[in-house]
Amino acid sequence: MRLGLVLGDQLSFDLASLAALDPARDALLMAEVQEEASYVPHHPLKIVLIFSAMRHFAQQLRERGWQVHYVELDARANSASLVGELRRWQHALGATDIHVTECGEWRLEQALREAQLPLVWHRDTRFLCSREAFARWAEGRKQLRMEHFYRGMRKRSGLLMEPDGTPAGGAWNFDGDNRKALPKQMRGPFPAHFEPDEITRAVIALVRQRFSDHYGAVDGFDYPVTAAEAQQLWQHFLDFGLAAFGDYQDAMAEGEPYLFHARISAALNIGLLDVRRLCDDVDSAWREGRVPLNAAEGFIRQLIGWREYVRGIYWLRMPDYAGLNYLGNQRGLPEFYWTGQTRMRCMAQAIGQTLQLGYAHHIQRLMVTGNFALLAGIVPREICQWYLAVYMDAFDWVELPNTLGMVMHADGGYLGSKPYCASGRYIQRMSDHCKACSYRVDRVVEEDACPFNALYWHFLIRHRRLLSANPRLALVYRSLESMAVGRRDAVWQRGEALLAQLDAGQAL
Ligand code: FAD
Ligand code: SF4
Repeated sequence: MRLGLVLGDQLSFDLASLAALDPARDALLMAEVQEEASYVPHHPLKIVLIFSAMRHFAQQLRERGWQVHYVELDARANSASLVGELRRWQHALGATDIHVTECGEWRLEQALREAQLPLVWHRDTRFLCSREAFARWAEGRKQLRMEHFYRGMRKRSGLLMEPDGTPAGGAWNFDGDNRKALPKQMRGPFPAHFEPDEITRAVIALVRQRFSDHYGAVDGFDYPVTAAEAQQLWQHFLDFGLAAFGDYQDAMAEGEPYLFHARISAALNIGLLDVRRLCDDVDSAWREGRVPLNAAEGFIRQLIGWREYVRGIYWLRMPDYAGLNYLGNQRGLPEFYWTGQTRMRCMAQAIGQTLQLGYAHHIQRLMVTGNFALLAGIVPREICQWYLAVYMDAFDWVELPNTLGMVMHADGGYLGSKPYCASGRYIQRMSDHCKACSYRVDRVVEEDACPFNALYWHFLIRHRRLLSANPRLALVYRSLESMAVGRRDAVWQRGEALLAQLDAGQAL
């Protein structure tokens, strides 16, 4: 007989390895293992999501006639690793072949490949662009740019395309229309809520007992754990979020963790949603006049552009990519990333909701917590591990390029054309946090000045040699050059003082 391995982020009925097997004579293995749950201190909500979704999926597979060997975390014979479980079950069942779909993480795929097991590999067809197709696209290009990749994906998929082969609305990208600040009284829709059932409650109890030393709350779990629930979450977004997604994609607001974002990434990444169907729904919503084009285009760009692009880069460049540190950063991650205890209001909000919900939206990750790590010169490996640990949707293939490449510029501009560095002014423009902050965003060098301001100039000064030739930074370097020398010195000194505070383990 043959054995199929179904991993915790492969909970899709159309998984390639399932299609290759026969429920009448083959068996499946699913295992909750300590090694996967703790190689970084994953947020307890993420562990609840994955174990509960796995248990529900195993139940559904059995209802469809599959023989599923399911190993719970607490099972006495559990060997605590996936390789160990595969060895144990191969031996026990006398399996001749083990069918596996490509892993999401290089680390795990490597461990399986080195384990000397009779593995039969299948392509992960849940992505629109295979690893091989991405490598072909990238071949011979001096620079990779998401925009070029995205246009190719639009043409190939036909999404938001006119019959004559031109992009809908006459442009490929409406990013310029996606940067509105939130009007004063405007709030996001009421979030969808999913009550934990008996299976999820049992997993919550297990996680509370076994992972109490991980950062983040386990209470308040309200996320989908089945494909049917994930579909409800998606419908909620189509009905109440998508139309405003375009305009307010970059906005942030006090006490509004989700705003008009879909909150689907975790469900999508573990296989409860299908990217092609999501894009078709968005395309139809635009064609039927239910949502404006900037919303539909902005959303589809994230899915068939950024999401597929970062995955392509991950598999093209691993394992070397994980070790890059172009800017030579040496500073450790400040403790307040794990506690949220900082007087910087924007950081406290983004980190606080992350610890509570395992969620922050893209701009909070990129322009608040990410921007601070970039400006403060945090070692890429440490900040990458933080992002991998704290978000419910975090998997190495998507987290690493976003953090190391897009946020930290640690790949020297391979993924993105410039570092997304910004002063407090950006955060002020896109949020209402500064009004509630004990720092003053309109100041740079004073004791109560917003730390982002001096750190922004300090960052540009200390990396002048590597960054000043970048045409996309020409304007900011020109304003740096035009700054009076005395002022520049004062800004530098204030930046030094802030970094010294971090080095002394003090929260800002
Ligand atoms: P929406 O804003 O509603 O966007 C819709 C979907 O587009 C998302 O669900 C996601 O699947 C996709 N998407 C959007 N931006 C990106 C992107 N840059 N890369 C890949 N997919 C994207 N996303 C993850 O899924 N897992 C991660 O571990 C992760 N780590 C990140 C780390 C950093 C430093 C940054 C800047 C971004 C990271 N992202 C990650 C991308 C993005 O922040 C999340 O996908 C998004 O916030 C999820 O929330 P949402 O479902 O409400 O997304
Ligand atoms: Fe953040 Fe600075 Fe605004 Fe405070 S003043 S919320 S630290 S950007």
